[in-house]
Order: sequence, then C-alpha cells, then structure tokens
Amino acid sequence: MTHTDLDLDTRARQLDGEHVFHSWSAQTALELPVLAGGSGCRVWDHAGRSWLDFSSQMINVNVGHQHPAVVQAIADQARQLSFCSPAVASLPRGEAARRITERAPAGFRKVFFTNGGADAVENAIRMARLHTGRDKVLSAYRSYHGNTGAAVAATGDWRRLPNEYSRGHVHFFGPYLYRSEFYSTSAEQESERALRHLERIVQCEGPDTVAAILLESVPGTAGVLVPPPGYLAGVREIADRYGIVLVLDEVMAGFGRTGRWFAFTGHGGEPDLIVFAKGVNSGYVPVGGVIIADHIAATFEDRVFPGGLTYSGHPLAAASIVATLDTMAAEGIVANADRIGREVLGPALADLADRFPMIGEVRGEGVFWVAELVANRDTREPISAAVMARCKRELAARGVLSLTAENRIHVAPPCVVTDAEVSEAVAVLHEVLALAKGWV
Ligand code: PLP
Repeated sequence: MTHTDLDLDTRARQLDGEHVFHSWSAQTALELPVLAGGSGCRVWDHAGRSWLDFSSQMINVNVGHQHPAVVQAIADQARQLSFCSPAVASLPRGEAARRITERAPAGFRKVFFTNGGADAVENAIRMARLHTGRDKVLSAYRSYHGNTGAAVAATGDWRRLPNEYSRGHVHFFGPYLYRSEFYSTSAEQESERALRHLERIVQCEGPDTVAAILLESVPGTAGVLVPPPGYLAGVREIADRYGIVLVLDEVMAGFGRTGRWFAFTGHGGEPDLIVFAKGVNSGYVPVGGVIIADHIAATFEDRVFPGGLTYSGHPLAAASIVATLDTMAAEGIVANADRIGREVLGPALADLADRFPMIGEVRGEGVFWVAELVANRDTREPISAAVMARCKRELAARGVLSLTAENRIHVAPPCVVTDAEVSEAVAVLHEVLALAKGWV
C-alpha cells in the first residue's frame, strides 16, 4: 500500500463530502466506503482493501464487475458512435430490443427504452392510462418503484410520503406470510386472502377508474417477498375481470436475479407491460425500459405516444445490453444463479437460521435473498436500527459488502458468484451474527 494510494481514498472521501449530494440521506452523517475497481464479485479501494460484493451494489451488477466482454462492447461502440438521437434507427438499439423481446413471453415485440427504472415505471403508467382511458394506479404498500413523479407516488414504502404530488394512486397489501396482514397461517391462505383484499380494493375504487395494477414480481427492497403459489396468476385474473392493465416491475428481480430471465416466469401471471432496468446491462451504462405487449403497442400505431427522452436507446447502453445478454447466455450465468440459490446459498442461509434465533426468517431464490433479524423469535419484533448498522459495519470490516434495509440483511451477490465465494461470505455472516448476539 503506497502513500499515494491511501491519499486517493482520502481525496475521494474529501471531494465527496464537499461536493456530492447523496440520495435518500441527511448529508453530514454519511460514512461511505471508497470504490476504485472491481472484478466479478470483488471490489476494492485505491489502497487495495477489497470486499466481496454481496449487494451487487444496488442489486444490479448481475454479470459481475468489469466483465471484459461488456466493457469491450461499450468501448467499441464509443469509438464508432457515442451518441445518436432516438429519432434515428440504429443497429445496437434494434439488437438490444430484439434480445430483450426474445426473452419475454410470446406477444411482446416492442421495447421503449428509458434512462433507468423510475422513468420506465413512469412510462408504463402513462401507457396504461392512455390504453385504458382510466386514471388510477393500484400498487403495493410494500414496494419501491423509483424516485420520479408517478413512480414514487406508486411506491409504498416511506420514500413515498414526502413526495406524494402525483394523483390517482391507491395502495394495497400484497402477500407476506411472515408478517401477514390477513392473519394467515399458510401460504395458500395468504395468497387467497391477499387476492380477495385486492379485488375488494378494485371494487371499492370503481373498476372503471382503474388503469393499472403495478406490482414487483418479487418485491425486492421491501424484503424479497417471493409470491405464494397462485398469487400472480390470481392478480392476472383480477386484471382481466375488470379490464385493467397488469404492469410487472422486474427492475430488481429481472434478468437473472431469481435464477430466471424474468421473475414472473412460472408464476402464471403474464403481464401486459414489463418494466426493466438494473440487470439488463448490470448498470454499466444507465438504462431501463418497458417491454410492451402487442395489444398495448397497437394503441399507439396510429396515435401519438406522448412521451420521449433524449437518451432513449442510447448507443452505449444498447451495446452494453447486447453484450450483457449474450454473455449471460453464453456463460450460463442465469443457470448459475438458479443453482447457487437452490444448492448453495439457500441451504447455507437456512443453516444459519437454524443456528441463530436472531434470524426470524430467510427467504429468496436465485441470488436474491434476505435474512430478517428479530430481537425475539416468538414476537418477531424487528431488531433495532443500531444493531443493524453495527452488523453492516462489522460485515464490511471483515470484507463483505451488504445491503441492509430496516431489520433485513439482503444477500444478493452477482449472478456469477461461485460456491467458494458464497462459503466465504456466509462464514463472515456467521462470525458477525455470533458477535451480534451480545448486542441485542
Ligand atoms: N423498481 C424497482 C423494483 C426497483 O428496485 C427500483 C430501484 O431500486 C426502481 C424501480 C427504480 O429504478 P432506478 O433507481 O433505476 O430509477
């Protein structure tokens, strides 16, 4: 470690503190790690301290850090044409759209590209409203859909409350057996009761006023709430019964995270609009979008779609999507996420839950997991924010970057994670949980 390298980390922290305004934070209390580089599941600072990235940063670096094929594709495209208007045709944009629609169910042939997840949600809502001629959007309390007008108003968690300026948003409770709103004692009950609750909300709001039901296929930030059997199919039936557009938000859950290209696959609830971002290109260039079912796209064949973005289908983003999806297919990266979840990470987390009563529940699939920490297993009282912050600090001090929210440790490594890397991270988790027993 040289003096200069240490200085770079200090300098990065100093510049950040002086000039960078951060998301969702009071600005003075921030203590941020510095990242200078990465490869696969590992990241490091300028001084050579390294971490296993079990957060995939924002649960988006699915293909791993600095995959050479994706970096190369971005560099090649930058040399050829770094920008072109959305009002021209371009080969990388078309190739990216084709690869995305090929992975979607039959009957999805068009993609509208955006800059990220929030504006993708925004435009899906716009499409649903124009398609139905209705106004209201129903979404779950336990959800996050992004930080722009309608997307943040559709969000259910605390981030909505200071930002409710968009109109026509109604919220409902989705299934969450561990903390059931419906006094359910089985997954079947939770599914059935959550569906009955949703249908009652539609009826009480006036079905003719509801444009869209917007739902994360697997609510992510809210706690990796894998839907119980029958729930997504049931939501589809309700949408059909009342002529409502079903929008599934796959921003966090999509493109490999659950061990499938799309998280909704296998749940029987095919949507009308699919919102994506994050994993589609692992965030190497900001991008998101809406995959549009043919019957919705038909609405705009002879009618102007009143929405657009300067950077819609940006060539660097498009090239990175092509390279990411080709690489994920060629290297079996989605299959790896599936196997790791079933054979390695899922069982290892279940084993930790057996050893530590502080873990109330672990749940997830693929490389999309959460450990919910409780002060008391019987009452399920969430562990305090102070203990959570300490867990996060101690994990980082032992070389594991994690993402925590409320009383949950989200365990979400890149889809390329190896068995050995899982073992290493789980051993650190074990060590920190053993210490944490003394903090409660
Ligand atoms: N939808 C979901 C499910 C998300 O998890 C997020 C971000 O975490 C968004 C939308 C917003 O995406 P972005 O931050 O790219 O705007």
